[in-house]
Order: sequence, then structure tokens, then C-alpha cells
Amino acid sequence: MKNIKRNILLNPGPATTTASVKHAQVVPDICPREQEFGDVIEFVSTKLTQFIADPAQYVTVLFGSSGTAAVESILSSVIDQGILIINNGAYGKRMCEIADAYNLRYIEFQSSLTEPIDLQQLDTWIQQSAFACSHLAVVHHETTTGLLNDIASIGGLCKKYSMDFIVDAMSSYAAIPIHMKDMNISYLAASSNKNLQGMPGISFVIACTEKLKASREIKPKNYYLHLFSQYDYYSLHRQTRFTPPVQTFYALQQAIRELEVETVENRYARYVRSWETLVSGCNEMGLEYLVPEHSHAKLITAIKDPICSGYDFMEMHDFLYSNGYTIYPGKLANHHSFRVANIGDITYMDIENFLKLLAEYLKRIKYIQ
Ligand SMILES: *Cc1c(COP(=O)(O)O)cnc(C)c1O
Repeated sequence: MKNIKRNILLNPGPATTTASVKHAQVVPDICPREQEFGDVIEFVSTKLTQFIADPAQYVTVLFGSSGTAAVESILSSVIDQGILIINNGAYGKRMCEIADAYNLRYIEFQSSLTEPIDLQQLDTWIQQSAFACSHLAVVHHETTTGLLNDIASIGGLCKKYSMDFIVDAMSSYAAIPIHMKDMNISYLAASSNKNLQGMPGISFVIACTEKLKASREIKPKNYYLHLFSQYDYYSLHRQTRFTPPVQTFYALQQAIRELEVETVENRYARYVRSWETLVSGCNEMGLEYLVPEHSHAKLITAIKDPICSGYDFMEMHDFLYSNGYTIYPGKLANHHSFRVANIGDITYMDIENFLKLLAEYLKRIKYIQ
């Protein structure tokens, strides 16, 4: 098969994929209602559950969509009373926007964008909330900044107050170990194209099966994203409810096999080595990053813009892009930063090459000697 150019994606997903995952998409045409394709779906959903939970008690519900749809599916399908949403970045804010769109009763708990959540304060908020919240939602790894939220402790609080815990684990799943039962998580959302190192186009919800079944009593607020219906159709027919992105599923099947070989722990160790290479290189060049190391997920880094008259993000981006490296703009209005992710099928050696190019740009604008 033809060799495909290897680009180094340092944006926070879609991430760089292996050649074998790219090639896995090239398969004979198949109707997704055939048993043969049903086996692929079954493999994918069972394995996705197994990475973080016991398939006897938890189940994966798949969607042909980007990741936001999985978050929207949970929020629009399972909230019967109120929900408390933790907002400490753009993705926490997005959950509030979804809650607004569906007219959910919600309380927004705003927290620092760069420092850990104050759990004592959160506890007080839950006790003093104006109305009962049946659910609490948080982003595990805030992709905006690189901040890692302590979901084990927040899960403990949910247990204390009998709230169902919802986690957006889009950018942590398959890198940072998660245990749904121990962390008391009822619903978790993730997607195919970040640390799973698959192609974009599949999102999924991993749910506590018992809770998911109980949610059938709640009146649907939408059609396509209704979580229980999506689950129910598949469990009755062993086929997806609507046309799935067939080729993306074959790629995901291959990506899962590769994750099983590497293991989540070793993948995270590989990512952390890349992160350490990145930050030590940045330190040498006098570049600072936003989130302190103790609460950093070590998967994506928001780096403060160099203070230098010649600096221009787009110019830096274009120079790196023309050399095969893609970086990402910042997402915070009052912190001027750009972002570099270190996820995907890359190693610290790719980061070393990236740092050389970055240094070349910074020399050119006379930020460094
Ligand atoms: C990537 C991401 C999403 C989903 O983004 P899509 O563009 O819809 O795939 C949601 N939450 C977090 C934390 C993310 O990093």
C-alpha cells in the first residue's frame, strides 16, 4: 500500500495515527447491517468499556459524531432534577451552554482556570444549592489549559450526596487511568480521535447500565441523541440505530488493538516523557506555561505567548506547519497563549525536533539568541 505522509499533529486531537490505523480504513464496501460488521461494533463497544469498567455492569453507547454529541447526549437524556456543572475552562463552559440550550435547571460552579478545584467550597455549594441537583458534571482534563481535575475526590462527594456523576473524559480517556466504579462515575463521554489514536467520527458514552435503563422514564428532549434509545436499539438488534461511519469503525478497531498491546499505563508513560521533553525545552527558551506541574495532566500545554514585538502566532504556525508540525491557538480570552499537545502516535524524539524548529522561529524574531 502507498506510503502516507506522517504529519505530527500537536493540536489537541485529532491526533497523529499509526500507518496501520490509517490503512485499516481501506476495506471492501459492506452494509453496516451485516453480521460481519456487527462483530466490529461488538468488539469496539466491549473493549471501550473494558478499559475503564466491567462490561457486566457498564455499557458503551456509540454515536457517529464528534465528541460534543456524546456530552450533549448525556446532558439532554439523563437529568431529571437539577445539575451542578463545574466550569473551569472552555469545555466546562460548553456543558453550561448545552444545559442552556435544553433549558435544564443547573448551577454553574466556577473555579480557577489554572488551580485545582476547592473541594471544601464545592461541598458547601452542594449543601447550600437553591434546588436539589440529581447530577454533577465535570471535565476530567480541561483541554483548554491542561488542568487535570481530581475526579476521584469529586466522585467521593457525589457519593456522599447521592448525586450521579457525569465526566467529560474526552481528552483523558485512554491515557490517564480511570476506574468508573471506584470513582463513582455513572456516565462518561469520550471520542475516537484523541488518546485512542483513531480517526475522528465516533463518540461514545460509557454508562452504568442500571442507571441508563432507569433513564428511559425521562421524557426525551431530542431524537438522534437520545441516549436510552440509542442503547436500546443496539441491545435489541445488535446493529447501530442509524448509519455508522463504517470505515472509521475499522480504524477504531485497529486503534483499540494497538492500545491493548501498548496498554493505557505505557501510553501515558510515553506521553509524559514527551511532555517532560517539551517543558524542559520551553524552560530553556524562557517560555512559561499556564498550569503548575502539580495539577497538570501532561497531555496538552498552554504556553504563554513570548513577549516580543516580532511575535505572531499565525506566522509561527505557518512556519511549523510547512515543516510538518501542527500547533493550536489558545482558547482563553485573558491569557495570551498557544497550545501544544503531546498525544497521538508520537514520541519525545518528535518533540525534540519540534523544539528545534520552535527555537529557529524564536531566534528569527530575536526572542532568543
Ligand atoms: C475534544 C473535546 C471535546 C469534543 O470536541 P469535538 O470537537 O466535538 O470532538 C469535548 N470535551 C473535551 C474536554 C475535549 O477535549
